[in-house]
Amino acid sequence: MSNLKLEGRNALISGGTSGINLGIAKVLASQGANVTVFGRDEDKARAAAAEIDACGPGKAIALAADVRDAEAIATLVAKAAEAMGSLDIVIAGAAGNFPAPAVDITPKGFKTVVDIDLLGTYNVFWNSFAHLTKPGASLIAITAPQATQVWPMQAHVCAAKAGVNMLVRALALEWGPAGIRVNAISPGPIDGTEGMDRLAPNEKVREAYMRKLALKRFGTPEEIGLLAAWLSSEEARYMTGVICPCDGGTDLGDASQDCLTSRRG
Ligand code: NAP
Repeated sequence: MSNLKLEGRNALISGGTSGINLGIAKVLASQGANVTVFGRDEDKARAAAAEIDACGPGKAIALAADVRDAEAIATLVAKAAEAMGSLDIVIAGAAGNFPAPAVDITPKGFKTVVDIDLLGTYNVFWNSFAHLTKPGASLIAITAPQATQVWPMQAHVCAAKAGVNMLVRALALEWGPAGIRVNAISPGPIDGTEGMDRLAPNEKVREAYMRKLALKRFGTPEEIGLLAAWLSSEEARYMTGVICPCDGGTDLGDASQDCLTSRRG
C-alpha cells in the first residue's frame, strides 16, 4: 500500500476490538496512526490493542464503554483525546445484530439494535465534536447494505442502518463548514466476522450468498481498512457525505445469472 501519511494522526474506533473494525484499526496503525479502540469488554479491548500494536508504527490504547451510554462515551472520548493528544479520525463501527422475522423481534430487541447502531453512532460522533481537529477531522460510520436493500429477518438492522446513512449526510452538511468530513462505508459480506457467521452460518448458505455476488467471494477486514485509511487521509479531502459501498457488488443486486457464457454460446 502506498503511504497515506497518517503519521501523527490519532484515531478512535468504537467496536474496534473485533471483526471489520479491528481490521480497520490494524490498517490505520500500519499507516502510522495511533488508535484507541473500545467495546464493552475491557479484556477483549486489551487483546485487540496488542494485535494493533504489532501492526504499528502507530500505537494502540484499549478502553471500554457501552455506546448506548452517552455519559460513559463522553468520558471515554475525553480520555482518548487526552491520552493521544488530538482526535483526527473517528470510526463508529459498534453494532448488534440477530437475524429474526419481524413478528419475533420484540420492541425491546428492536430498540436494542437501534440503540447500538444508530444512537450509538450519534453518541460517539456527538461526544467527539468538541475534541476534533478542526479543520481536518474525518468521521466514518460503518453502515451496511441493509440500509438501502430490504433483507428478510433484518427489519431492525434495515431501520437502524438507514438512520445511520441519513445521520452521516446530515452531520456532513452541518459540520463541513468546520472542516469536518463525515462519510460512511457499507461493507459487503466480510469473511471471518461475527456478523457473517450469524447471517451465513453454514457452507450451503455461504455458497448461495457468493453465487449472487458480482465478485464471487467474500471480502476481508483489511479491504475495508484500506478504504477507511484512504477516506481518512488527505487524499480524500474533498469527500464528504458519501456512503461508499465496499461490497464485492452486493449493492448491484443478484449476479447469479451467467451473462458471459450465454453471450459466447
Ligand atoms: P463484530 O466482530 O461483532 O464487532 C462488533 C464490535 O462492536 C465489537 O468490538 C463489540 O465489542 C462492539 N460492540 C457491540 N455492542 C457494543 C456496545 N453496545 N457498545 C460498545 N461496543 C459494542 O462485528 P462485525 O461483524 O465485524 O461488524 C462490524 C461493523 O460492520 C458493524 O457496524 C456491522 O453492522 C458492519 N457490517 C458488517 C458486515 C459483516 O460482513 N460482518 C457486513 C456489513 C456491515 P464488545 O462485544 O466487547 O462490546
